[in-house]
Amino acid sequence: MDILIVLEDNNGKIHRMGLESIAAAQQMAGDLGLTTGALVMGAHGDALAEEASGFNIGEVLKVNSEYVASYSSDGYAEAVKQVIEQENPNYVIFGHTYQVRDYAPKVSAKLMKPFLVDNVAVRSNNGKPVFTKLMFNGKLFSDVHANGDGPFLISFQSAAFSSDKAESGSADVRDCSVNIDASMIRTESESPFQEEAGGVDLTSANIIVAIGRGIGKEENVPLAQDLAKAIGGELASSRPVVDAGWLPSAHQVGSSGQSVSPKMYLALGISGAIQHVVGMKGSKNIVAINKDSEAPIFEIADYGVVGDVLEIIPKLTEALNE
Ligand SMILES: Cc1cc2nc3c(=O)[nH]c(=O)nc-3n(C[C@H](O)[C@H](O)[C@H](O)COP(=O)(O)OP(=O)(O)OC[C@H]3O[C@@H](n4cnc5c(N)ncnc54)[C@H](O)[C@@H]3O)c2cc1C
Repeated sequence: MDILIVLEDNNGKIHRMGLESIAAAQQMAGDLGLTTGALVMGAHGDALAEEASGFNIGEVLKVNSEYVASYSSDGYAEAVKQVIEQENPNYVIFGHTYQVRDYAPKVSAKLMKPFLVDNVAVRSNNGKPVFTKLMFNGKLFSDVHANGDGPFLISFQSAAFSSDKAESGSADVRDCSVNIDASMIRTESESPFQEEAGGVDLTSANIIVAIGRGIGKEENVPLAQDLAKAIGGELASSRPVVDAGWLPSAHQVGSSGQSVSPKMYLALGISGAIQHVVGMKGSKNIVAINKDSEAPIFEIADYGVVGDVLEIIPKLTEALNE
């Protein structure tokens, strides 16, 4: 295979970043005439393999080893390295996850091959992929391509590709052996990070109601909470709202917060600074309300309303509740 997609386990389901990686690999394969395959491992390997076999992927490889039953960076890095050596793909796509940040650089070091991280797009140029990366907090785009021989390790930013675009199909599952022993595993990982009680998972929300400094003061935040409840969405914010202590940091969207791609993103009193936009521009529909008609958020909004959020939000909530 030419492109190997490494899929991550999310409690027995393919992690959403894995679905985005499948969409990315399928686009690369279509543009460049390449073949694809996916790699699964871990305690839920069978379930992941079955789910992966429902996508338009050449084949699914399932690693069977007691040393990857639970996650360790040593075990995963060694297993992925050995599969790469066996299968010889030219590109290996990883999801944009904390686990990948933990072990994929080790794979890169073991193979002495580059890891091109955090790309936002890929296109074909003379039969070779060219990756696009944001620089200086999204102020500049740079084109990146790999020199020399593969395999090249690649990751795309969250929401660079839509998980909905992963084409379904039918793939065979093949068992795959790796040679790992206990002496190679030097660390034992604790159970995966869980969001604090009452925390929000913005990354899987379909509708997000996000507030910015334009909400005015902490006492106005419940207006947006009511709207989020009425519309069935999650409440999010720009950074000044978190810095002011009006919402916990788990609600922050942007370059130093979460990256989200809901079906609808309501930006209420948010100017559209690049550090915010990089975290939400993958949203399918962006609705912006801002009293300044020149606010940059309108450049990326699908629908824009020039007006006062403090007047509009309560009316919107009332209309939805009716
Ligand atoms: C290293 C770094 C990392 C950063 N990371 C992030 C990040 O992760 N996320 C993030 O969001 N920011 C981040 N920032 C901050 C970012 O640069 C902006 O300052 C921030 O996004 C602005 O937030 P805002 O749009 O809420 O506020 P402002 O830029 O102050 O905009 C407020 C908007 O509300 C409008 N408004 C005011 N009153 C009303 C009203 N009554 N009705 C309607 N509209 C109204 C105004 O016209 C204005 O457009 C970062 C900055 C740096 C330097």
